[in-house]
Amino acid sequence: MIRAKKSLGQNFLHSSSALKAIVGAGSLSAKDTVLEIGPGEGALTKLLLATGAKVVAVEKDDRLIPILEETFAEEIKTKKFVLVHADVLDFDGKKYAIKAGAYTLIANIPYYLTGLIFRQFIGGAVPPIRAVLLVQHEVAKRVVARDGKESILSLSIKAFGTPRIVAKVPRTAFRPAPNVDSAVLAIDAIHDGGFAKKEKDVFFDVLHAGFAHKRKKALSNLKELFPKEKVTHAFATLALPENTRAEDISLADWESIAKFL
Ligand code: SAM
Repeated sequence: MIRAKKSLGQNFLHSSSALKAIVGAGSLSAKDTVLEIGPGEGALTKLLLATGAKVVAVEKDDRLIPILEETFAEEIKTKKFVLVHADVLDFDGKKYAIKAGAYTLIANIPYYLTGLIFRQFIGGAVPPIRAVLLVQHEVAKRVVARDGKESILSLSIKAFGTPRIVAKVPRTAFRPAPNVDSAVLAIDAIHDGGFAKKEKDVFFDVLHAGFAHKRKKALSNLKELFPKEKVTHAFATLALPENTRAEDISLADWESIAKFL
């Protein structure tokens, strides 16, 4: 057992029911390929491989590489398991036969990476067909709420897939225990949101700009990055009051604003 590094967001999951819930949500069979981000000491990897699926895992921590190589020596030999020692933010799936719509993304990753990973994979050029992620319980509840206030993550998840909460995972299920409870969030039927690749980038840029300063209204936030006349025109056409807050704008309206800009 290694000492957990805070800088890498290491909270290892030891609850077998939580691990099973994650794997179950993936609905995996021997025909499938899984991209696992941050395998850690391999607790989840072991169950993923037991489904017969091929697993490509990306781990940044040098100390974990020899442990994983030893634990999964047999699967590495038979090429059922491919271990990539890298920062996931530099990972290029094409080198490992990861193809758009033909893999499942599974990750218990540090929470500060969730948004970046979401944009890189689900909102990127090579999206998975399904993703199963551990996120903070409060964040998961916000994502599935029908009448809740929106966030960048809730809007981008709903734009590209269908989210569902699979299980609540108490903080005591991790070593060391984090300060908050988590949830297993599955995002099924991932699609391109009706955007071309370039439009997807604009959609994310618009969301990030709109939510940039919490105290400011969405319109003034957007005006900092996009031409003022275009932003005002978009709000007028969509009949959005000029003092609307970013969290109160619906997904459909964000998509329209992105198209205008
Ligand atoms: N999957 C294991 C589990 O469930 O017990 C470990 C989860 S732990 C929360 C996060 C893992 O992601 C750690 O193994 C950590 O080293 C790895 N990690 C953190 N940042 C990373 C990055 N940028 N790229 C790849 N792996 C990363």
